[in-house]
Amino acid sequence: MARRKHCRRVGFLPDTKYFKPRGIPLSVLEEVNLTVDELEAIRLADFEGLYQEQAAEKMDISRQTFGRIIESAHKKVAEALVKGKALKIEGGEIEMPEMRKFRCSDCQHAWELPYGTGRPLGCPSCKSDNIHRAVEDRGCASRLRREQGRCCRGIQQG
Ligand SMILES: [Zn+2]
Repeated sequence: MARRKHCRRVGFLPDTKYFKPRGIPLSVLEEVNLTVDELEAIRLADFEGLYQEQAAEKMDISRQTFGRIIESAHKKVAEALVKGKALKIEGGEIEMPEMRKFRCSDCQHAWELPYGTGRPLGCPSCKSDNIHRAVEDRGCASRLRREQGRCCRGIQQG
């Protein structure tokens, strides 16, 4: 079941993860599962208009692999549009930052927390609440992901 795949670098995560055609009851609605790396391929090639070579480079994969991903992505989107199916954006072997960095302005203690755990209440070292996201953790999200991305974390919906 767990097939080893090469990580695809992804420069953004979609806010909208579900597209549903209007007027079709859930009981008869069929879903197409578009993976996050497939959406990224569409974003780079179709939305930003990059050549496949450039897009492949951005995702850190070969031109051949990119070709397969974009072909699969186009087919799924077409299927959803033609057949009136819902599009669910979920999954895919992708690379993204796992940790957020914080820094305490009082004692300069710096630490990391995983995404999704919420903002810390205080500095773990001196208990001060004068804490901030570390400067290097702001700025360009895509650059951050490139530099801090660790390996292969599947994205689950929600
Ligand atoms: Zn502190």
